[in-house]
Amino acid sequence: MVHPDPTRPPAGPPRPGARAAVCRVCGRTVHGGLAVCFCCRLVAGQLGLPLVRTVVVREYRVGDDVHRCLRGYKDAPTAGARDRLRRRVAADLASWIDRHDDGLGAGLGPWVAVTPVPSTRRPGPAPAGALLDTVPALAARHLPLLVRGSGLPGHLTACRDGFAPGPGVGRSGLEGLPVLVFDDSVTTGARSQSAAAALRMAGAHVVGILAVGRALPPAPGPAVRSAIGDCN
Ligand SMILES: [Zn+2]
Repeated sequence: MVHPDPTRPPAGPPRPGARAAVCRVCGRTVHGGLAVCFCCRLVAGQLGLPLVRTVVVREYRVGDDVHRCLRGYKDAPTAGARDRLRRRVAADLASWIDRHDDGLGAGLGPWVAVTPVPSTRRPGPAPAGALLDTVPALAARHLPLLVRGSGLPGHLTACRDGFAPGPGVGRSGLEGLPVLVFDDSVTTGARSQSAAAALRMAGAHVVGILAVGRALPPAPGPAVRSAIGDCN
């Protein structure tokens, strides 16, 4: 259980010799003796909920090969290129699962359904869902449980109403269901934690979030860059 204090200010740059630790929620390096990074404290405060753990397969920087694949499988100009990159990302994810003894648990515990975070930018099915369907170990348990809600979660904005159970997904079916939330890429975790929150409020047992990639650093602006620097 995580008890973040969203009122606590960002730790700022690490002091020389300061002890580095790992955020209990997302696994980022955090300085200053804190148990939870600034991003997770911020998101938990916005949601008013303790967060679920996030496991990340790869970290990337904008413009590197991982970033190009994760963007390109959605945005490449031709269907052929998108398909090729999707298969490349899926092969990397499948390899990661194979290399980890508890790959299918993702270090988070047993789950029976994996559901993608819906896109907040694109209409239609979540691209992450197509990625799930390309990894046989995950495809068999892929259940698209969520749709976009009335709220608008974003890079630094988490909200409980950003997502909602989809048509035909009732509370009776979700009650106690062990679910893994899946996304192709996370930055602060605001969107993926919003998706997890929607499922939890509908009765599901969200074991955690599995993300293929995490951006380092996000840096949307100087003030935010300074604050989020604590997360990297
Ligand atoms: Zn964190």
